[in-house]
Amino acid sequence: MLEVRNLSVAYGQHRALENVSIKIDKGEIVVILGANGAGKSTLLRAISGICEGQHSGDVVVDGHPILGLSSDRIVEGGVALVPEGRGIFGDLTVRENLVLGAYANRARDDEAANLERVMSLFPKLGERQNQIARTMSGGEQQMVAIGRAMMSNPQILMLDEPSLGLSPLLCKELFQSLTEVRKAGIGILLVEQNAKQSLAIADRGYLLENAHIVHEDSAQKLASDPAVQKAYLGAG
Ligand code: ATP
Repeated sequence: MLEVRNLSVAYGQHRALENVSIKIDKGEIVVILGANGAGKSTLLRAISGICEGQHSGDVVVDGHPILGLSSDRIVEGGVALVPEGRGIFGDLTVRENLVLGAYANRARDDEAANLERVMSLFPKLGERQNQIARTMSGGEQQMVAIGRAMMSNPQILMLDEPSLGLSPLLCKELFQSLTEVRKAGIGILLVEQNAKQSLAIADRGYLLENAHIVHEDSAQKLASDPAVQKAYLGAG
């Protein structure tokens, strides 16, 4: 469904990604694990059309090449990003934030149905639809950001470190809600530092180190791999 083939990105002399190839199928949760600076955000930004670096390679969604298209056209192609730090509009209400996510042509006709879907996924957003977004808690704001991305009717939802700054309980709720998103047949590409909880919900994962994919496996195997445990799960 989404396939990245031999993607390389450079910021001037600095090579942030080298020949990265990954794929995500419908209804699959795929996690990218990597240390700070490995290139995780660059990968999501390049797929979304918002990366400042020079790029080469291919990104294909359902057979259509999208690398190098504008970010708006990539959203039209069915790929939505929840950026690190959420990027919601603090002075607008929850509902206004959600509706802003429905600007894509692919989503306009389904705005009411998508709003209902988001509110059933995150009942709290339904209860708080008229609350000013910046007064929501960190976890609730993350839900607003995910809900807004869902309003564009994506086939692929990409999230850049969504659990950052959330308490363990809120992290658990957040990851649980992603399994609900998967049930809607949406493919999820998750970049996370929280290896334990993300591997617990993921189907597959990739390890990104110094701009290269160095390992790929089922989430279950990655979680029990001693090298992964040492590097990402705090064991050792
Ligand atoms: P983190 O977990 O710390 O956010 P990351 O794996 O997401 O790290 P990236 O943000 O993709 O890493 O950065 C990869 C490398 O590219 C880093 O060395 C970073 O300094 C560099 N980089 C990222 N964006 C730019 C930019 N706009 N201009 C120059 N260099 C950049």
